[in-house]
Amino acid sequence: MTNRKRITAAAALALALLGAAAAGSAQQKDVEAEKNIFAMDTFMTLRAIGPEAEKAVEAASKEILRLDAMLSTGNENSVVYRLNQDGEGTATEEMAELLAYSEDLYESTDGCFNIAIYPVMQLWGFPTGEYHVPDEKELAQVQDLLDMSKVQFDEESGKITLLQEGMAIDFGGIAKGYTSSRVMEMFEEYGVEAGLINLGGNVHTFRTKTDGSYWRVAIKNPWNTDAYLGVVEVADEAVITSGGYERSFEEDGQTYHHIIDPATCTPAEAGLTSVTIVSKDGTLADGLSTSLYIMGREKAEAYWREHPDEFETILVEEDGTVAVSEGLADRFTSEEEFEIMKR
Ligand code: ADP
Ligand code: MG
Repeated sequence: MTNRKRITAAAALALALLGAAAAGSAQQKDVEAEKNIFAMDTFMTLRAIGPEAEKAVEAASKEILRLDAMLSTGNENSVVYRLNQDGEGTATEEMAELLAYSEDLYESTDGCFNIAIYPVMQLWGFPTGEYHVPDEKELAQVQDLLDMSKVQFDEESGKITLLQEGMAIDFGGIAKGYTSSRVMEMFEEYGVEAGLINLGGNVHTFRTKTDGSYWRVAIKNPWNTDAYLGVVEVADEAVITSGGYERSFEEDGQTYHHIIDPATCTPAEAGLTSVTIVSKDGTLADGLSTSLYIMGREKAEAYWREHPDEFETILVEEDGTVAVSEGLADRFTSEEEFEIMKR
């Protein structure tokens, strides 16, 4: 045998061994894991497929509970609760990230998104369920507490100071989207092959289904939440909907919901009944679903045009008009007629 042949034979053996190793890992069977938890005031479902899917959903649910315990406005042991009580505190890494997002959104949405909204939520009784319709004077008082420039954050030390007595913050408008993005990162670390999580109607998909096809996510019909308005096909994206119907109360024949227009400190009434955002960025999708709902159709549509690569949207108006942004046109199906918004 010539030298050359011998080398080739050795190389072939090495390749065969590598092949065996690869086959060995491929034999690690894919399992499908599902877990249901209650956190952040809502029911959540986590589904993953992959060799370590069980571990992935376990770790993800622990992480969700950890973030809930940190960010909750109602839990007396949470970091956010203590910050709101004391008017100052130290931000965790996650809070620093959420604050940065919140400031960007406050700027870009002209103040529609405002985490200093918590005193207003309290005034209306949303956190406790002891609802109350405030009068003009009460509204004027809380209006004074919404100046985001008075939420001071020192990045070096992590110190947050609420500069005005009575101010309090609430990440409720972005926390679930932030959390779903975090779960996606964990799915990546655990080698998940396909996954879908539903955090109280906030859906986030990991890759495609295992056969390579899109995940099909149903959008609720705002007038009959047991029915669907349509289905959107997604992969590696969050699908997050805000609607007044999600949390509301009635008094004297009037319905009041939990998405507050900071300009008036009252439930947003801008002619939309639901806003769905589709984006790779869960935090952004969550923050924008709340913000565009407050803006109303025209401003929401303009906002989408100004940020064309960041997200797609489905806007449902009170008169029944459904408008779908161009990037979803081929991925949205509905029995209803819908308009397509062009870039
Ligand atoms: P859901 O929590 O039902 O998924 P949203 O994502 O639209 O709905 O968030 C509504 C929550 O966001 C409220 O319960 C409150 O905590 C917070 N919120 C309400 N109005 C605003 C606002 N203008 N800016 C920021 N957060 C808000
Ligand atoms: Mg939101």
